Amino acid sequence: MGVTIDLNAIRENKRRIEALGRPVFAVVKNNAYNLGMKPVVTTLYEEGVRHFMVTTLDEATEVRSSAPDARVLVMNPVYEWTSVHEQQLDVAIGSYDWLVAQRSQLDGVRLHLKLDVGMNRFGAKTYDEALAILAYCQDEGLDLVGLCTHFPLADADNAEIEHSVHVERFADWSTRLMERQTFEVVHAANSAATLQADPRLGHCTHVRVGIFLYGYSSVEPVDWLIPAFRWETEVIAIHDIEAGAHVGYGTGYTAESRERIAVLPIGYGDGLMRARRHLPVHIQEKAFPFVSNIFMSHSFLRVDASVQIGDRVELYGNTTKIDDITRTGYANNSEQLCARSWRVPHRYEGGNVCTPPTNQFV
Ligand SMILES: *Cc1c(COP(=O)(O)O)cnc(C)c1O
Repeated sequence: MGVTIDLNAIRENKRRIEALGRPVFAVVKNNAYNLGMKPVVTTLYEEGVRHFMVTTLDEATEVRSSAPDARVLVMNPVYEWTSVHEQQLDVAIGSYDWLVAQRSQLDGVRLHLKLDVGMNRFGAKTYDEALAILAYCQDEGLDLVGLCTHFPLADADNAEIEHSVHVERFADWSTRLMERQTFEVVHAANSAATLQADPRLGHCTHVRVGIFLYGYSSVEPVDWLIPAFRWETEVIAIHDIEAGAHVGYGTGYTAESRERIAVLPIGYGDGLMRARRHLPVHIQEKAFPFVSNIFMSHSFLRVDASVQIGDRVELYGNTTKIDDITRTGYANNSEQLCARSWRVPHRYEGGNVCTPPTNQFV
């Protein structure tokens, strides 16, 4: 009952991604896609991962406590430097102006030059800006170790040509920069781009993947990925209702005939997204649809006479996976993971030394 996170799945996904040819630079931002920073990082570290990416300094400090001699890269522009020096964090260069403004803090800090090829988030926006950053680092004797980008359209199925322009831009800029500087790591591909195995990214040393590690793919289904996440709840009440009756708040659902309704103790307050109701749940391998909305703490199913109070209900598992909902178009996979609350009991499978953050159940 509750949420089960399968660390062996994450372990195995890491191996299978690396079998494509490059070591994993693991993206563990947002509490490792809300699967739990410490268990996930510990598992990946045991598997040999030595590069982790997060967005914030607090996340980086958390990673550092489970991965003592790994490289931990902070992607957001840094303006507060204590933990960078204390924890020996890697930092991405957001822009030339940022670099110059932060100069007094940068001695001994491992820096990654980020190229903005189209996302308009962070990084050098032109080749000239990238070149200016490189020259500044060289003149000032700064420790420029990495070169990277992030592709905004790698998993957009309607923008292959534009994505290709971005890849081309990265390939062109990075080839020219690499003539002037040796980089210890070059990383560009997120999960979707990893699958494309674009020869123009042949100079990359790592793949910087997140969602694939956890077993999901927004683009096409990837049959060798193992979903790491299951969520079960139980039926807590059953009602027989007459034609014309409503269920839950509002009049959004009206029974067409006499119906049997099961109540679940889970709602959007637990992070069960409303998007979930577009596909049925399973009770003893039989499919039953949601009716009405998913509410804050409850949701409703239309069931048959076989269903009883106390029956287990599979919200996400072997029959309905996160990516089945992803492909309905109502919520993406990372979003469904991030939405879930730690109010729900959690359990880890396949870990050696892991303790979950809260609410362990057995
Ligand atoms: C989130 C993120 C990734 C990982 O993306 P996935 O699609 O989950 O593999 C990689 N790089 C950066 C900069 C990110 O923000």
